[in-house]
Amino acid sequence: MSDRPKQTFKKIHASGRMKEIMEAHFRELDEAARTKKQKVAWCTSVGPAELLKGMGFQVFFPENHGAMLGATRMATDLIPLANAIGYSPDICSYLTSDIGSYLKGESPISRAYPGIDGPPRPDVLVFNTNQCRDVQDWFNFYGREFNVPVIGIQTHRGVGEITRAHVDSISAQLKAMVPKLEEIAGTKLDMDAFKRVVGLSRQCTDLWKEVLEIASHKPSPLTFFDGTIQMGPAVILRGEERAVDYYRLLLAELKQRVEAGVAAVDGEKFRIYWEGMPIWGKLRDLSTQFADLQACVLASTYCSSWVFPALDPDAPFDSMARAYLELFIVRDEDYKEAYFARQISRYGIDGMIFHDAKTCPNNSNNRYGMVERISEGHDLPTLVLHGDLNDLRCYSEEQARTNIEAYIEQLAEKKGL
Ligand code: SF4
Repeated sequence: MSDRPKQTFKKIHASGRMKEIMEAHFRELDEAARTKKQKVAWCTSVGPAELLKGMGFQVFFPENHGAMLGATRMATDLIPLANAIGYSPDICSYLTSDIGSYLKGESPISRAYPGIDGPPRPDVLVFNTNQCRDVQDWFNFYGREFNVPVIGIQTHRGVGEITRAHVDSISAQLKAMVPKLEEIAGTKLDMDAFKRVVGLSRQCTDLWKEVLEIASHKPSPLTFFDGTIQMGPAVILRGEERAVDYYRLLLAELKQRVEAGVAAVDGEKFRIYWEGMPIWGKLRDLSTQFADLQACVLASTYCSSWVFPALDPDAPFDSMARAYLELFIVRDEDYKEAYFARQISRYGIDGMIFHDAKTCPNNSNNRYGMVERISEGHDLPTLVLHGDLNDLRCYSEEQARTNIEAYIEQLAEKKGL
């Protein structure tokens, strides 16, 4: 162990700018809800944000709030409040911690941004079931609480090849939302404004993809743990100029790192793929443990979920339909295995960790034989970590540490180190 280099924490300087634009976003949302000068829509993280922004709504993403609750470790204490009103501890812990936060009147938003009470009051809630059914039940809770409309898109799941019929059905649902949204917004859809937002979203997503793919360099200048923080603008500010500007800034910094040979993990020996949800409350601990073991967790399905290459401003409805159908989480097992094979080869991966998130079966891909197919079919050592995105009662730190150490030893043996 003593011959391992002492790890130095590598600050991403662009992050200061990210903090500014994220704060500006939350202050704009708060202002819109308080002054009623602009309507507020709540939207699922892979919901039709471009349409909402194109129609002039301020858009709030409850899953981002869920991630903040997890990262600040507020979630575990808030979940029982939602359980007490009938939301099971077995369902999405973003949902339960967010509802718990609402019931208790405590939010990481007000801690981070003094003067803001918490999430903005919605005028409408808009979901897409492409990721799971939980989002619909989550939004229906708030629809009842605030007595506001809940509208959504029902997406096909377990999709192999995407057909014209799939795209048409989602595109028709998107179009069918417009009259209701126009009624709430009090204005007609301006197609030029909508196309502009789709165009900006496409630029954002292309840059975000480039950011993630820079991790294919050896050594990688970026970790998955950095990615979980840096993805914020791609999720909540997509469709906006400031997100595009931010990723240009970040990319320039990462390219400099590559040129200077700066590694995110000093003495990188192992390159690891993370599959599944982050364990938000343990990002720092996991990042430190992997770095100390000279293992760089550098790519993930999760961070890549906000890459939407299909977006096309000239065909906004159809391209949004395709973009939100092509998502990994919507696809069948064969597609997923082929996707993993491409990622393993693109990033030069030595091993793959599957996070089995107790409350998110939708984003845990270890339950239907995939781990075995990857280990045997692709000759790749795998590890399953049991935990959760937000409910830390489902995660044993001690067990995870031991399993990770043993796993890295296995990787070292395979590489003859
Ligand atoms: S995909 Fe998982 S984490 Fe995301 S909202 Fe659905 S159940 Fe929750």
